[in-house]
Amino acid sequence: NCRLGVLALQGGFYKHMEMLRSMDAEAVAVKEPRDLAGLQGLLIPGGESTTIGMLMERYGLMAALRTQMAQGFPVFGTCAGAILLSDEIENSTQTRIGGLPITIRRNAYGRQVESFEADLVIQGIAPEDTPLRGVFIRAPIILACADTVEVLSSYEGYPTVVRAGSLLAATFHPELTSDDRLHRYFIQQIAADWQP
Ligand code: GLN
Repeated sequence: NCRLGVLALQGGFYKHMEMLRSMDAEAVAVKEPRDLAGLQGLLIPGGESTTIGMLMERYGLMAALRTQMAQGFPVFGTCAGAILLSDEIENSTQTRIGGLPITIRRNAYGRQVESFEADLVIQGIAPEDTPLRGVFIRAPIILACADTVEVLSSYEGYPTVVRAGSLLAATFHPELTSDDRLHRYFIQQIAADWQP
């Protein structure tokens, strides 16, 4: 049985845990470094990326997670989680995990469109006839990606799902619909390769 962690310091972690459990995976709330032991991978939820980053530092999770990621530990960041995985955050020096060679802009869709939904075609995950409904909430925009980054989906010309090795990021909230294909992809195509 697959045992996955969900970073549970702030933000929308509970829906991710429910989704994992509905898929018969074990979902562990991760709050401190020892919670990382024996996990097949980690999900980082949406929320407030500055707060999550600050709390990760405070609980010693930042260093512990970076060490594990350097060995290839699978991580899936959604929305604020994607921001935290980004190497570059436009106009921000906020604490981040990093590791994903992308440049991201926070709250990029502006105040008028704080939240919206869009049907997304995702390479190898959601074909044109059955797209995945993306729920974007004060979502970031990925402005640039290194050559090593695979863009699996885009919306209005900007990447919305990207992967680099064991790291996966989505700029929207895949835990807010009942469509679990992205979580399934993370478990089967990325986390399955990791030996805890
Ligand atoms: N606006 C948030 C941030 O910049 C991200 C929004 C979200 O996770 N839904 O951290």
